[in-house]
Amino acid sequence: MRILLTNDDGVHAPGLKVLEEIARQFSDDIWICAPSEEQSGAGHSLTLTRPVRLNKLGDRRFAVTGTPTDSVMMALRTVMDSPPDLILSGVNRGANLGDDITYSGTVSAAIEGALAGIRSVAFSQVYAREGMGDDVPFGAAREWGAKVLAPLIEAPLAERTLINVNFPALPPEQVKGIRVVRQGFHDYSRGSIVEGRDPRGYRYFWFGLDPIEHTMDHGTDLEAIDDGYVAVTPLQLDLTHYSTIGILAERFAD
Ligand code: MN
Repeated sequence: MRILLTNDDGVHAPGLKVLEEIARQFSDDIWICAPSEEQSGAGHSLTLTRPVRLNKLGDRRFAVTGTPTDSVMMALRTVMDSPPDLILSGVNRGANLGDDITYSGTVSAAIEGALAGIRSVAFSQVYAREGMGDDVPFGAAREWGAKVLAPLIEAPLAERTLINVNFPALPPEQVKGIRVVRQGFHDYSRGSIVEGRDPRGYRYFWFGLDPIEHTMDHGTDLEAIDDGYVAVTPLQLDLTHYSTIGILAERFAD
């Protein structure tokens, strides 16, 4: 089995090393193609206004001066001589739960894989934000990664679907199990925008990540993580809201 790995925190991110450990339990044919620098929050963006460079870092290991989506495209079209059987994205430093998904470079790399018709799974490690900085503990992902991935490799999946996995912010022995759940939604809040002055006196703005309030709907990814479970959510690329088609069609009828 040939596996492609990527990570929106960049090719040197600690979570990518954790993902490689997980993937090597299933195959030795591991390819890595990831952004040169952190691309968190890049969503499903594609670099169109400047050239993208490809740097070979080692055997089957490449860095792309672009987004997570650029990295998957480069891997599939330029880097690899034959397509992978599986694409894994992560393990992201931080949650990708509820409506985080559309902002997420981690999930978007898996979306790009699903668009190409390749089985794709996104992994994220939730962490308790206070005082962590560079030292996010990936223990839950490291211990539970292979257990979650094994059934996903064989499970029948519909076309244009992908899997979003989040590991709870707990030591591995305290994780209660795995739940398959739907996507939840945060109560709308995107945190603060910090305003300041740079060393030359020019005003800047910096998007903050305050803790986000959410209502714990039953059966959601947010609830599963809050309860101490690994959350597994199948996602689809068809964003159509079907019942509204009829409602709108009536409005536009002659
Ligand atoms: Mn990230």
